[in-house]
Order: sequence, then C-alpha cells, then structure tokens
Amino acid sequence: KGFLMSSSSVLLIISGGIAAYKSLDVIRRLREESIAVLPVLTRAAEQFITPLSVGVLSAQRVHRDLFTDNADMDHIQLARQADLVVVAPATADLIARHAHGRADDLATTTLLATTAPILMVPAMNPKMWTHPATQYNVALLRGRDVAFLGPEEGVMACGDFGPGRMANPDQICHAIRETLSAQQKKERSSLSGLRAVVTAGPTHEPLDPVRYLANRSSGKQGIAIAAALHKLGADTTLVCGPTQQPIPPGITTLRVETATQMRGACHEALTTDARPLDIAICAAAVSDWCAKTPQVQKDKKTAQDTYRLELVKTPDILADIATHPTARPALVIGFAAETEQHLEQARHKKARKGCDWIVVNDVSMGTQTFGGDTNQVHVLSDQDSLFWPSAPKEEIARKLVAEIAQFFDNRQKK
Ligand code: C5P
Repeated sequence: KGFLMSSSSVLLIISGGIAAYKSLDVIRRLREESIAVLPVLTRAAEQFITPLSVGVLSAQRVHRDLFTDNADMDHIQLARQADLVVVAPATADLIARHAHGRADDLATTTLLATTAPILMVPAMNPKMWTHPATQYNVALLRGRDVAFLGPEEGVMACGDFGPGRMANPDQICHAIRETLSAQQKKERSSLSGLRAVVTAGPTHEPLDPVRYLANRSSGKQGIAIAAALHKLGADTTLVCGPTQQPIPPGITTLRVETATQMRGACHEALTTDARPLDIAICAAAVSDWCAKTPQVQKDKKTAQDTYRLELVKTPDILADIATHPTARPALVIGFAAETEQHLEQARHKKARKGCDWIVVNDVSMGTQTFGGDTNQVHVLSDQDSLFWPSAPKEEIARKLVAEIAQFFDNRQKK
C-alpha cells in the first residue's frame, strides 16, 4: 500500500459472463485501498451487471461504447491513464479477439492501445476453456506477456464441472497488488541514488505591501515532474513559487515567493548537501523583472494619469545553475514558453542559458497551456528533437522523466 500504490489506477474491463458480479466486489475492494478503478463494460457485460452499479462503486464514468460520446478519444486516453489493465471476467470471445488483434469495441481497442501490463482473469464453461482454439489463443497472449490468473476448477453455473470458474475477488485483488508493486519497484529503481531539484510555479515580485508582479503559471507541470522523479526513486527537492496546487507527499518542498528567494533555495539545494545534484529542471515561470525599490508603504493613487514603475532584472536561476563553476548538475533542463517561432527561439535560449535540454511549449493559445491541465511540447537536446502532442501534464512529466532515466542509464553504460 502507501502513497505510490494509492496513486495507481487500474483499468478494469468487464466482459459478458455470469462471473461479472464478482467484479463489483473487486472494484469495491480496490477502492477501499485507494486504487482508482476506471471501468469499461462490453455490451455483453451489460446483460449481467448494470453500468449504474459499476459507476456508483467505482465513482468513475463507466466507459461503454467506442463510437458514441467519444470525441475525446476515450480508448487512447484510457490506454494512457492506466498503470495496469485487468480483464475480469475474460470470456473466450474477448480472449480470442485480443489474441488476434481485433479492435471492434472499446474494450479490445483499449487493449491494443495500452502499453500497461495486462492481466486476464478468464471465466467460461470448462469445455470452452479446454477447447484447442481457446488454449491456442491463451498461448498466443502469454507469448505477448499477457498474464493469466485462473480459471479455477469447480462446478459451473451451467452444472458442468472443470476448469472455468473465475478466480475469487481476494485472489484478483492480490494479483493486482503484486503486479502494481512489482511494476513500481522496477520503475523506482531507475533513478534511485540521484538527487534532483525542480522549480515550479510563478514568482510574485512585490511592488508594495499589497501588490505584486506575477503571471498565469499554475505550477502544475513542475509539480507533476517532481512527482514523476520521486516515483522513479530520485531524491527530489521542489522549489515552488506561490500556488494552490497540492504537492504529493515524499517530495522535499521549499516554498518561495520571489525570484531572488527561488535562486537562494536552488543554491541551497545545489551546494549544501554532501551529495552533488544530478538533475535540475527549471519549470518555473520566473518573473523577468522586479521592482527596483518595492515601496515599504502601500502606494497611493495620485492625480497623474500615468505611473512609472522602475524595474530591474531578476536573477536568471537556470543560467546560474547551468554555469555553476563547481556544482553544475549532470543534466540541466530549461523550459521555454514561446508565442512565435518557438523552436528557433528555444534553440537560442538553450545556448544562451547553457542548459542541456529545453522543453518548448507554444503558449500562443494563452491560458490553455499556462494554468491548464494539458501541454504539448518539443524537447530539444544537442542531438534530438522530440515532439509530444497534447496530453495531460502528468503524462508529459512521465515521458520527460523516462527520457531522463534513459540519459542516466546510457551514461552508466559508457
Ligand atoms: O528567459 P526565459 O524566461 O524565457 O527562460 C525560461 C527558462 O528559464 C525557464 O526554464 C525558466 O524556469 C528559467 N528562468 C529562470 N530564471 C529567470 C527566468 C527564467 O530560471 N529569472
């Protein structure tokens, strides 16, 4: 259990068998352990249990049809969100369709689109299970690393005896827990032993005791990156400007308000630990300017129609870290929010600041990216240019951190 497990989500595909009622208990138990369950019902499943009971127990939207209500590309979103896909009950028909790569409903389309591990929990008449066609399909899927749990031997609803009963909810939940924690262990190990600092959020640069200069940044992308680094085992410090966003536990968080304070906190992370920093990611939207002399008292309205504000440059934290003479991390990543010619601008910025990679987002669409839940980015390094189309910020974070893990893995091999 614990934080990692409780942030997991399981996509549960329920196909049409008499054992489908047992899956309701599986949903209830997983929810008790704070594992999110995203339910998908096949048409045949609806003959056995109702979408309403699945929806109430899972507290999630029940996904049913590939074509209706699918403007948001359900199957792709679903396939991306899950840490594990469980098919319970898995009927002979669903096993056959997935074994042969069919994609004729939401369930099979999602199974084809996912990169998460798949666990099938078969339930069918013993003669159907032992039929060479089914056994051949199961062997095909096992060869593609699909895991199977059961079926158990026993008396079937139809009166036949033999292997075909679906594993009980206890066994299913146990297998789900085991698979999730094995997966998390594997993931966690890939950045363990490394130290990372991430900046996130806007900064507030005071003009007087009640006013400040700021921007629309929410901090969501930076926080998601810190969470993804932590999940892969990195010792992670988040230096966070003013934001209301929740920060997952386990991450050392230093709250700051101004660019100068953000630089101070980063320097502390850079130099005060005996172990050097390996990774620095500057995702914060640091204000470029601050008031030369913030007023001590609240500034009063005057009779004049214009107001002159004298601003000075804030410290460039990214450039500072990237050019640090003694403690430069092995991998320094900057962000660039551009409204025009974004790739060209970003390349210049990467060179100017001295960072290794730069993540470019096009913010010409305004608040859709800044403050929004999704992001669409290019990642530029000296060698590569990657493009990740619009996806939840958590997914962009996972992809970036997977690239980081790859970077350190390659370095180790050299
Ligand atoms: O210069 P510009 O703001 O466009 O650069 C963006 C990148 O530089 C981001 O990674 C941002 O976090 C970082 N930055 C910084 N300190 C500043 C300004 C930007 O670390 N004062």
